[in-house]
Amino acid sequence: MAKRTFSSFEIFLIFLLVMMTGITVALLSLLFITSGTIENHTGVPSTQSPPATQGSAAPQNSTPSRAPTTTQVSPTPSTPKTTLFQNFSGYHIGVGRADCTGQVSDINLMGFSKTGQYARGILTRLYSRAFILAEPDGSDRVVFVSIDIGMVSQRLRLEVLSRLQNKYGSLYRRDNVILSGTHTHSGPAGYFQYTTFVIASEGFSNRTFEYMVAGIVKSIEIAHTNMKPGKIFINKGTVDGAQINRSPTSYLWNPQSERARYSSNTDKEMVLLKMVDLNGEELGLISWFAIHPVSMRNTNHLVNSDNVGYASYLFEQEKNKGYLPGEGPYVAAFASSNLGDVSPNVLGPHCTNTGESCENANSSCPIGGASMCVAMGPGQDMFESTQIIGRKIYDKAKELYESASQEVTGPLASAHQWVNMTDVTVWLNSTHTAKTCKPALGYSFAAGTIDGFGTLNFTQGMTEGDSFWDSLRDQVLGKPSEEIKECHKPKPVLLHTGELLKPHPWHPDIVDVQIVTLGFLAITAIPGEFTTMSGRRLRQAVREEFEAYGMLNMTVVISGLCNVYTHYITTYEEYQAQRYEAASTIYGPHTLSAYIQLFRVLAKAIATDTVANLSSGPEPPFFEQLMSPLIPNIVDRAPAGTTFGDILLPANTTYRVGEVVEVTFVGANPKNSAENRTHQTFLTVEKYEATSATWQIIHNDASWETRFYWHKGLLGLSNATIQWHIPDTAQPGSYRIKYFGHSRKQDLLKPAVLLSFESSPSVFEVITTW
Ligand SMILES: [Zn+2]
Repeated sequence: MAKRTFSSFEIFLIFLLVMMTGITVALLSLLFITSGTIENHTGVPSTQSPPATQGSAAPQNSTPSRAPTTTQVSPTPSTPKTTLFQNFSGYHIGVGRADCTGQVSDINLMGFSKTGQYARGILTRLYSRAFILAEPDGSDRVVFVSIDIGMVSQRLRLEVLSRLQNKYGSLYRRDNVILSGTHTHSGPAGYFQYTTFVIASEGFSNRTFEYMVAGIVKSIEIAHTNMKPGKIFINKGTVDGAQINRSPTSYLWNPQSERARYSSNTDKEMVLLKMVDLNGEELGLISWFAIHPVSMRNTNHLVNSDNVGYASYLFEQEKNKGYLPGEGPYVAAFASSNLGDVSPNVLGPHCTNTGESCENANSSCPIGGASMCVAMGPGQDMFESTQIIGRKIYDKAKELYESASQEVTGPLASAHQWVNMTDVTVWLNSTHTAKTCKPALGYSFAAGTIDGFGTLNFTQGMTEGDSFWDSLRDQVLGKPSEEIKECHKPKPVLLHTGELLKPHPWHPDIVDVQIVTLGFLAITAIPGEFTTMSGRRLRQAVREEFEAYGMLNMTVVISGLCNVYTHYITTYEEYQAQRYEAASTIYGPHTLSAYIQLFRVLAKAIATDTVANLSSGPEPPFFEQLMSPLIPNIVDRAPAGTTFGDILLPANTTYRVGEVVEVTFVGANPKNSAENRTHQTFLTVEKYEATSATWQIIHNDASWETRFYWHKGLLGLSNATIQWHIPDTAQPGSYRIKYFGHSRKQDLLKPAVLLSFESSPSVFEVITTW
């Protein structure tokens, strides 16, 4: 073979080929290395929220510094030190928490629909807790947000989605974002657009709405900013002694064969997700457990997050050592589930006048009727009950968290539709169909429950109306149509909300149905309150649907109070008994069957990878010109010779642990502080540190040891009382309490301004022995 020689042009070409191959290899390597961070480059980068201090609540520099790194051993297999952007098995995980308290005065509390249950201060702050989970390559992601509010309203969700779209483009959407309320009944109302809820809230409070939207969005931004590779572990276990069924007679209407499959008339199972990064550092948890957060009663006036909020508080305080409540990177959400008929008042219903049990189909007492029948317990008062139930939930969560070892793996998916719930054809069997109804509330809705009776003396279990109330309604609101009355039978229609359209529709027609999946875990986002058996039926149906299309052994979780509020959803059988939950099943007797059908469609779409073919359905409306609250904003005034924050009643000079410190100040309306966030606490309890000669903040208004009461006077005068319930763990020494607020001032012909103020401190000693 003749020896081949290269011309100089050929040598140049070979040189070029070698160079280009080198460059290509380098570029491919770079692409591979950075693929793990794709989400950080999609959409607009978030810069607003500092990642390390979440929902900073302390007003000044004496905030405790960053906690020492946790040394807790996690079940993560000891991973060698992992590069952030390497490919890995698991998910990118981001967690975030932000304050969303809103107004703590001059607004109704949302939940009991009790006239006059106005907010008059704060026991704990309310938080939005966000979790973003993304595939290792950043392709798909889902967002779960648990919010310390009664329920997510359609308006809240639409506004949050719109702001997310403005900031992140199509990254966070209607299908992959779930917003779920914890269902605390001690959060502010006023963030709804449908007339029934606007009336219950006594108006639409733009101040509260804005505060909540901003808080929810901020929690998502924080989670977005701090995403990192990690792992999720799941665990399940039984929580005992924390709940009872508050409509056990309704539950008994379900078929015996069905009931025989369950050992209890409530779901006692808690499902918990533990999140850690690849180095084993703990990031947060989500748990789902079915319980009404109504340990705080309808006589309460302090904004707070109730029993599940207390569980969050205990967990976060433990993991964020050295931080004040509401601060620190670790986020623990205790989310709602199928809690429709589940009460935390475990002593059961008793007549408040005679003490006898009123566990009957009408929850009625021989003397005094339904308004005397109240469920209590287990504490001496509602504060103690909240803490006892919250601690039971926390204890189980901690146990499940520490022993969680089953890793959640597999692709992420999400499916969502808007559905006109007034017009769903339900297939009862292969030949017979039924329809859902236009919304209506039955008579027993007005009865309330054993956790909080209605203002008027209605009883539960009413299957017939009353001519007096019928004619009153007919005159004020017009007659319900025969169609709606027929459709809702045996529910006697008290309010035909589906036919009331002024000034805006009284109830939603368009409702969200949504499922997100992470591997073998499916989260169903329920737009209301499923009863125990409703939840069981839906879980089973969704699991079977997944199974039919090859996704075996799915764990299905009911996530309650999501996306839009539509009251309750009972089974068809429970509906016949017409207790409160059934009277509040607003789309009629076949509501649950309709949801089961709709969620099956979503499950099938995910299992067959055909989500893209799902229609989005009719878009819900966003109403303008909602009725404003009737309570006017008036100028704050201090008595002559005093100014805001002056001490009216100082603390005593000395206290023992276990006692209650109380200081009263010249106050200003706390709702001003929801508009003007110069500081996010109404109070601090501070301890004098002799070594550094500084005052260290040890409690803020998010702390369960502190209470902030606001006493409204006449003509803009008011007082504020701060209590500190000194815990057994308090160290002896010098302490002081301070009050922070905003006063509304208005000079002639000028717009009102909100002025921040800080009280002078009230100083005292804590001693441990006399
Ligand atoms: Zn409820």
